[in-house]
Amino acid sequence: MTERRAEGGPPEDSGRPGRRYVIRGGAVMSMDPNVGDFATADVLVEGGKIVEIRPDIRAESAGEIDARGRVVLPGFVDTHHHLFETAERAFLANGLLLDDHSGSPSAQPNYGEHILQGFARAYRPADVYVNSLFGGLSQLDAGVTTVLDVSQIHHSPEHTDAAIQALVDTGRRSAFGFFEGDGRTGARYPEDAYRIRDRWFSSNDRLVTMVMGGELHLGRQVYTRAWAIARELDLKIAAHAVGSWGMRPVFDDLAQGTAGVEVGPDNLFIHMTGMSDRTWRRLRDAGAQVSLAFPIEMTMRHGTPPILKLRELGMEPSLSSDVETTMAADPFTLMRSAMTMQRMIVNQMILDQGDLVPPGNWPTPAPGTPELLTVRDVLRYATINGAKHLGLDGRTGTLTPGKEADIVLLDATALNVAPLNSVPGAIVSLMDRTNVETVIVAGKVRKWKGRLLDVDLARLRRELETSRDHLFAAMNLKQDLFAWS
Ligand SMILES: [Zn+2]
Repeated sequence: MTERRAEGGPPEDSGRPGRRYVIRGGAVMSMDPNVGDFATADVLVEGGKIVEIRPDIRAESAGEIDARGRVVLPGFVDTHHHLFETAERAFLANGLLLDDHSGSPSAQPNYGEHILQGFARAYRPADVYVNSLFGGLSQLDAGVTTVLDVSQIHHSPEHTDAAIQALVDTGRRSAFGFFEGDGRTGARYPEDAYRIRDRWFSSNDRLVTMVMGGELHLGRQVYTRAWAIARELDLKIAAHAVGSWGMRPVFDDLAQGTAGVEVGPDNLFIHMTGMSDRTWRRLRDAGAQVSLAFPIEMTMRHGTPPILKLRELGMEPSLSSDVETTMAADPFTLMRSAMTMQRMIVNQMILDQGDLVPPGNWPTPAPGTPELLTVRDVLRYATINGAKHLGLDGRTGTLTPGKEADIVLLDATALNVAPLNSVPGAIVSLMDRTNVETVIVAGKVRKWKGRLLDVDLARLRRELETSRDHLFAAMNLKQDLFAWS
């Protein structure tokens, strides 16, 4: 007997303890080498967890999700997203990190001046909440079931609580990154970490966990304290590393052991553009992790994404979206940017080994030439690597019995995908967020057949627009749909 449920609806009470359903008949790409890939298989979910993955699962009285024609994949993981900036979406579509005084439309407006030193100062707790919630739901809709919110908006404990509440209310797995705010009177970074931990993170088995922000450019007094608190509280430490933002010298200090803090496997460094070889070797030897935001690094002048350096050192990145002020935050954009950027460099490297005169137009790569990235590489970056870098690989990042059921169903029958000839190929080279049909977080169905569940998006959009209006007014900026470009 199958469980009764609303016609065409998701399994009832999905995610509740003891509730079981089978995701039946999909092409399963587990991202776990011990589980493997299946042209057709079933996934049994009980409560919040994956119980079994194999063809032809019999499960009496379990609900069912028909996954025929669908790809079943672990949810995507984004290891660096500034969720509070949703109100400024596309405001900096041309924008650079900083003003280079070229007078170009890329120099003004720019990120440093207009976002961090501008809009961010005008955020009230309610702005933080609706911006983070809306941006988070958008990513959930795109199949990103886990995020590190690099939250830099902690002007007061009320701002902090609003940011965390938004992550909780989004209903996806999140690491709340406690970074600094603008440092006004009443701000409590980094000391507020103790209160935050006690109020929100006393239990470690919830969907939302905590990561400490430990920016080295804040000065020795601040970062040594932040890193010490993080290690006392057993939190991972995330920090930006951007040569073009002036951070190379302090990272050289870190590599030389003169920065007053020790790099370790609990460090996640973001971007790593323009860093010295010595810094790279030190970080690799210490087991530190790296998150790359390929599209943002390429367009905002962080520097060339250091994917060749990572691979040379035997390291692997996770992927991050960074800012929707400048680029979409869906995983397909991230994977395709990573792959095309790396292959552009390596392909040209190989062509340069010849002379473009036949037969020298198509050289055999010389020994030592880097390997081209493949679709499986970038899928790994976008799933399990992100989970590892956030310390969540025991719970998510692969489809593995015993892990939590963070699962996306991707429609391979769609106009932009059919006929399905390669599962990893179709995901990376063809799909986009319109193919993300169903999204499951810890067993609970959050998106069903193309529609997010349990949210009033029209109301949230109005609240976000009201927040946007406040922020533009506070900045004394006229809203103009054709300006800033
Ligand atoms: Zn960032």
